[in-house]
Amino acid sequence: MTDSTLTASAAGGEFLGHPRGLVVCFFTEMWERFSYYGMRALLIFYLTQHFLFSDQVAAGIYGAYISLVYITPVLGGIVADRYLGAKRAVTLGAVLLIAGHTGMAFEGATAVETVVDGETVVLRDPLYLQIFYFSLALIIMGVGFLKANISTLVGSLYRQNDPRRDGGFTLFYMGINVGSMFGALICGFLLEFGGFSWGFGAASLGMLAGLIVFLRGQRLLGGAGDPAKPELLKRRLAPGINTEWAIYLLALAGVLVFWQLMQHRALVGGLLGAFLTLMILVVVGYSFLRCGREDRNRMLVCLFLMSYQIIFWGLFEQTGSSLNLMTDRNVDREVLGFEIPAAAFQSVNAAFIILLAPLFSMLWIGLGRRGIEPSTPMKFALALIQLGLGFLLLVYGASIADNPVAVGLIWLILLYLLHTMGELCISPVGLSMTTKLSVPSVVGMMMGCWFLASAAGNFVSGQIAAMTGSETVGGEVVDPAASLAAYVEVYSAAGWYSIGFGVLAMLLAPLLKYFMHGVR
Ligand code: GLN
Repeated sequence: MTDSTLTASAAGGEFLGHPRGLVVCFFTEMWERFSYYGMRALLIFYLTQHFLFSDQVAAGIYGAYISLVYITPVLGGIVADRYLGAKRAVTLGAVLLIAGHTGMAFEGATAVETVVDGETVVLRDPLYLQIFYFSLALIIMGVGFLKANISTLVGSLYRQNDPRRDGGFTLFYMGINVGSMFGALICGFLLEFGGFSWGFGAASLGMLAGLIVFLRGQRLLGGAGDPAKPELLKRRLAPGINTEWAIYLLALAGVLVFWQLMQHRALVGGLLGAFLTLMILVVVGYSFLRCGREDRNRMLVCLFLMSYQIIFWGLFEQTGSSLNLMTDRNVDREVLGFEIPAAAFQSVNAAFIILLAPLFSMLWIGLGRRGIEPSTPMKFALALIQLGLGFLLLVYGASIADNPVAVGLIWLILLYLLHTMGELCISPVGLSMTTKLSVPSVVGMMMGCWFLASAAGNFVSGQIAAMTGSETVGGEVVDPAASLAAYVEVYSAAGWYSIGFGVLAMLLAPLLKYFMHGVR
């Protein structure tokens, strides 16, 4: 147990049997995810209906963005571990996020399509397009400083072998999804009744609320998340500039880099590849050079299991892109005479998480008591199988629809149900796994790796979404039947591949479990 852990627990007492600092992390992350998912629910529509990008280009921008937001947590994690400490890093992240979401609210005039020399040309206001890319860059950097560090802050509230740790992460994961559900719902409805500025503006206000909660709750965190060596931060690097301010300036420089990267998206895949290679080398190198046999095996199993996320999120994250568009174009969204906006369905997954997370947590405990709780590798395999089944259900629903614009809503809901059950078998389990299988001194870096694998999955999701694209005019599909056929083709392949990988993962599970040396 570190000193800061002791101070954190002592500082705030307990709430529902957990350190009260968890309440601060819960609400800060809840508001951060409110803004992230609220904005994201509108993003694909902003791209296709406001800027009139084609489906393919929109999917590329969307994929690059959701990939970069999970690359930067590695940087944010390392900077926090070595210099800033999680508290300052989270505050910096929140400020950048507020700026980014506010920037998104400046939408300018809708792009126009004209025909020049027989060719269709889209005219977009260059100033607002640049504001848009710059805002995305601020958000990418903001998530980088906030996301992994708020997760490690949760971990640092507990002693190394504290049995409440998993439960703490499950509660934290519910906070994520409460934010996500209300973000998508509120921003989705604001888009419908006010416009993009209203939706994005609400995301910005949400993050402001998160920052206020975090700053006001500092006392409850005690010493957790303070800089490891405060004297390092005060060191003068140049006249008037100490290390702390140099870091803030570098963060702004990073925003400029991501601003350009969002406009040169072909580089994102390469950047991601470079980061992944580097992290694999670092983790494997560390495991062989610094760890004993059991620790080494655990670290390597942890790294290997992280790779499952590439398949999982690559398919799961169709939610905000192709599934969002399919819901808009091909699903009958009328309930009791009222047409529900497509973006609002972005909240279904989060709602299922909130309902099912406590049940899953009880299920694991119940199975554990009988000695039949699936191991972590087995849970990951189950995640892939359920994900695949979800796609196949929607494909079946589409096949029995007699109108291509009226696929039954129930099939979409069933897809989200199965995808959520899969998510509960991989995502919170993975956060917990990372803190359990990693050597404690590099747990922050490993958490960054966890999100990096998510980044790779998100990147792949953009590529897959691009495969579903159909011809559009003014943001509307020309032929809904052809559009549905494209979704069905990609989703049935996704379904079968995912089940195939899941079965393979099941076969591998006993071997991986063996190399975990008693950690489940
Ligand atoms: N939905 C979860 C979150 O937003 C997990 C995301 C991920 O790891 N890709 O935190």
